[in-house]
Amino acid sequence: MSAYRLGVLLGDGIGPEVVPAAVRAVDAAMAAVGAEPVEWDELPLGAAAIGTHGSAVPDSTLEALAGLDGWLLGPHDSAAYPEPFRSRLNPSGAIRTHFDLYANIRPARAFAGGAALAPDTDLVVVRENTEGFYADRNTHAGTGEYMPTPDVAIAMGVFTRRAVERVAHAAFRLARRRRSRVTVVHKANVLPLSSGLFRRVCLEVAQQYPDVTVDEAHMDAMTVHLLRRAADFDVVVAENMFGDILSDLTGELAGSLGTAPSLNASDDRAMAQAAHGSAPDIAGRGLANPVAMVLSAAMLLDWLGTRHGDARAADAAVRVEDAVRDAVRDGISTRDLGGSASTAGFTDAVVERIAAGP
Ligand code: ATP
Ligand code: MG
Repeated sequence: MSAYRLGVLLGDGIGPEVVPAAVRAVDAAMAAVGAEPVEWDELPLGAAAIGTHGSAVPDSTLEALAGLDGWLLGPHDSAAYPEPFRSRLNPSGAIRTHFDLYANIRPARAFAGGAALAPDTDLVVVRENTEGFYADRNTHAGTGEYMPTPDVAIAMGVFTRRAVERVAHAAFRLARRRRSRVTVVHKANVLPLSSGLFRRVCLEVAQQYPDVTVDEAHMDAMTVHLLRRAADFDVVVAENMFGDILSDLTGELAGSLGTAPSLNASDDRAMAQAAHGSAPDIAGRGLANPVAMVLSAAMLLDWLGTRHGDARAADAAVRVEDAVRDAVRDGISTRDLGGSASTAGFTDAVVERIAAGP
């Protein structure tokens, strides 16, 4: 396997603290498994790029990303940008749309020694990332919501066979590598056409995976099931808005904002992105928890391993995840988890554990 070329998009707020932590963890893990070192390409995006390139999402950055295998995206605080940049699609949305990253994969796996509400949680929410009831958020075209009069607002959901099929396949492929269970979440009883299409297409795709057990739940009932028995779920697939809501719930059941990773993927590119925001209240003080970003980077390594049949990249992903969990179990953590380690101090502990091996 020749070296992977990965982008680094530092982001705003705590981004420049947590993204370099993820780079260090990936470098240590690739060295530990004897893989070629990653070639990193740091590219301008967000607040910093407004100053240097006159755009929060420079065309040159999009062009450079197109030539890479994947990238790490730091959090962006576009609400703090000056106009007209504030009103435009935020950097994360712009990249997700540009590269059609159709699956948002959000694992929720509780930490030993973490503050999980449901300590047995080990599931993954696979969220459709391009349409559904958030059809508009990816385009900013202003067509998905409108007001025919000042007192009436109408929002539309878009569901297409193509988009549901591809995200369903992503969910079933993932389930095969886990506990072989998929739960389809929908609201077809109330929305028989739109949510009904989502449900029907997912169940059709399920027939191509006879080895995977499939069941279904209504969105409202699913929140109750998760609170009562999150441990029973393996892979959960849902449309955009339901997936957004479910993954916040499962993230909280399994841990905290500082520990929830995610990956945005298409068939040929993937973007690692922590679930949390830019946390301006603690930025620049070494307090940020890098776990979510580091685990997101591990997901990217795992994705590269699967896509390229590269066992070493997959091993490197496991090393990173194990090292993070071991460090937290050993009582090393940042302030948000009740510890006293700095961002860099926690990262040192992770890198040491990666190098020491299992
Ligand atoms: P966004 O709109 O970008 O999602 P947000 O307003 O929802 O942002 P965050 O930036 O995620 O919020 O921060 C919410 C709270 O969680 C803040 O108090 C922040 O300090 C804390 N927080 C978020 N991420 C981390 C982290 N990695 N480490 C420690 N604390 C964090
Ligand atoms: Mg938020």
